[in-house]
Amino acid sequence: MPTTKNFNVIIIGGSYAGLSAAMALGRSLKSVLIIDNGQPCNAPTPHSHNFLTQDGQTPGAIAAIGKQQVQQYPTVQFYDGVAITGKKMENGFEISTGSGKTFMAKKLIFATGIKDLLPQIEGLAGCWGKTVIHCPYCHGYEFRNKRTGIMANGELAFHITMLVNNLSQYITIFTNGPATFTPEQLDKLQQHDIAIITTPIASIANTNGNISGINFTDGTSMSLDALYARVAFEQHCAIPQTLGCVLNEQGYIQVDNMQQTNIPGVYACGDNSSFMRSVANAVATGNLTGAAVNAELTKEMF
Ligand SMILES: Cc1cc2nc3c(=O)[nH]c(=O)nc-3n(C[C@H](O)[C@H](O)[C@H](O)COP(=O)(O)OP(=O)(O)OC[C@H]3O[C@@H](n4cnc5c(N)ncnc54)[C@H](O)[C@@H]3O)c2cc1C
Repeated sequence: MPTTKNFNVIIIGGSYAGLSAAMALGRSLKSVLIIDNGQPCNAPTPHSHNFLTQDGQTPGAIAAIGKQQVQQYPTVQFYDGVAITGKKMENGFEISTGSGKTFMAKKLIFATGIKDLLPQIEGLAGCWGKTVIHCPYCHGYEFRNKRTGIMANGELAFHITMLVNNLSQYITIFTNGPATFTPEQLDKLQQHDIAIITTPIASIANTNGNISGINFTDGTSMSLDALYARVAFEQHCAIPQTLGCVLNEQGYIQVDNMQQTNIPGVYACGDNSSFMRSVANAVATGNLTGAAVNAELTKEMF
């Protein structure tokens, strides 16, 4: 029988949210294992913006500084690999990995992020994070006053268009099928000279991820410098759901104001449990989670 190592806390996901939680716990002398398989969602983007002190850095550089600083706390250990199952045990939880190792902890933190489900449109995946972008706060400034497309529909498209209109006057909405705007929304879009194209998209014309336009299924095309795409997502890790964690209507793990899920002792932070998708928010919710878990453990040991 392989021996199972015991920790106070297992954190699954060692990107911004997980590292931030680990720092608070390591500094509180709690034994922590971070299990991470190195697939953060922002890997395709060349530069990360809007996180104070690290604006414009590569995503990897920001995570590397974080990891280096967390590694200074000897109670924090790292395991490179994928967590595949989680079980509730009498005194905590057991996590097993893809390579067959098992670890135990009193508390679990999921900092596992979300997985973008990119539409199967030729050329889109290669542009994702570079010139096909998801968020005006992260990348909008870099494309200010450029010919900008919004690939979305209805309420969501209207909301993004309103935000992006602040950054560029040259906007076209691509609904990739019949439009679903309300008459009031259509009026407002018309007032701002924002065109809506419903023709299905065939492909994204680009060179090395730099978009030059959209090709439509009817053979027409349109030139562009940037395209916002709101794509569907799923939880990157299914273990929270197998443990009974409830997801909200949008697909995020439901947490209380201290980041605890509906399952006592199980916490979530970062993208997996928040619609506010940013490095700053991942770090902030990770920090709160670390403090919340430390407080609970410390109270139990007192
Ligand atoms: C293309 C793109 C560009 C972006 N640009 C910006 C930007 O410029 N500025 C900004 O502030 N935000 C940006 N974001 C958002 C930002 O990247 C996320 O908000 C942030 O990465 C969330 O951090 P996280 O720790 O919650 O999740 P992630 O960074 O996604 O990390 C999750 C980690 O958990 C690991 N993991 C998941 N499941 C398991 C498992 N079962 N076992 C082991 N490990 C597991 C993954 O491998 C990964 O390392 C961008 C996002 C995208 C998609």
